[in-house]
Amino acid sequence: MFDIKKITRKNILNMQAYSSARSEFKGIADVWLDANENPNASNLNRYPDPLQLRLKAAVSKIKNVALEQIFVGNGSDEAIDLLFRAFCEPGVSKAYIFPPTYGMYKVSAAINNIDLVELPLTKTFELPTSQMILPNLKSDGLLFICSPNNPTGNSTDSDRIKEIASNFKGLVVVDEAYIDFSTYKSAIKLLQEIPNLLVLQTFSKAYGLAGARVGTAFASPEIISILNKIKPPYNINSLSIDAALNIIGNKESVDKQIDEIILERNRLRVAVSNLTCVTKIFPSDANFLLVEFINSESVFAKLISQGIVVRNRGSQIKNCLRITIGTKDENEKLMNVLNEIE
Ligand SMILES: *Cc1c(COP(=O)(O)O)cnc(C)c1O
Repeated sequence: MFDIKKITRKNILNMQAYSSARSEFKGIADVWLDANENPNASNLNRYPDPLQLRLKAAVSKIKNVALEQIFVGNGSDEAIDLLFRAFCEPGVSKAYIFPPTYGMYKVSAAINNIDLVELPLTKTFELPTSQMILPNLKSDGLLFICSPNNPTGNSTDSDRIKEIASNFKGLVVVDEAYIDFSTYKSAIKLLQEIPNLLVLQTFSKAYGLAGARVGTAFASPEIISILNKIKPPYNINSLSIDAALNIIGNKESVDKQIDEIILERNRLRVAVSNLTCVTKIFPSDANFLLVEFINSESVFAKLISQGIVVRNRGSQIKNCLRITIGTKDENEKLMNVLNEIE
């Protein structure tokens, strides 16, 4: 049986979480003289709810997950960092990643002085074979599966996630930043059967709130309570909580935007495939296309010269650029420049 305490740092298990007078208080009151705030009412004179209960209730409804299984972070990047601080012991545990993938896992591992094991994806960007992965999972710690993966755009299916999780003593983190654009179902549905699973999602991509910094993590109540214990007390500010609540209330418009972005993604794929400077477009379950060019550096430079910035992934994947799906207008501008290239 998986026991999260076994992989939690001893100092984290033993420490006392910060406790505000307000979170200790149970009851009804209308005079708040406990937190040295300015008493003059404005929409921001009070500290925000440390546990974001209103937001979690709304997330709980749309994701069909119990409130105790939800953590809200200052972007998923905060959750990634907290996972290292809670569940990886420097010099003892390891972090496993499947590159090319999202850069923050490596950065967070380095900040936290955790040994990183890289198990490269295959040529078609699938996870490596089980014979390649399973013998490597000797240490506990964290294992990251980004699905849909950034920057390759493809997804990993549930069976693969289950197989890996059942052979790993640490925590499997499935990063679903792009799940809303994918045809795959979220791994959230696996939480019941896989105790060592945590799923990351974010309001930064499909939900259009990158500027608000709101990310979510879904896992067992035991795992979530450890993240809550060590997070900064007021990690999500009031404006961002309100923005996230507001966008959940407008879920229909989010869904409409997702549909539009997927349509544009498909349109852009066709347009890009007609270019002679392009050698390959990878399948995408996300809001970007990974495109291989004959010479990506010159294409990148040409786009820059016309004020168009895409992500140069050439150092990770030879001759590849990652192109975010923009508005119809923006995509047209992009195509106009690409069409000029021989
Ligand atoms: C964009 C992205 C995130 C989102 O990070 P936030 O901190 O929530 O903005 C997380 N994971 C991946 C793979 C991403 O591409």
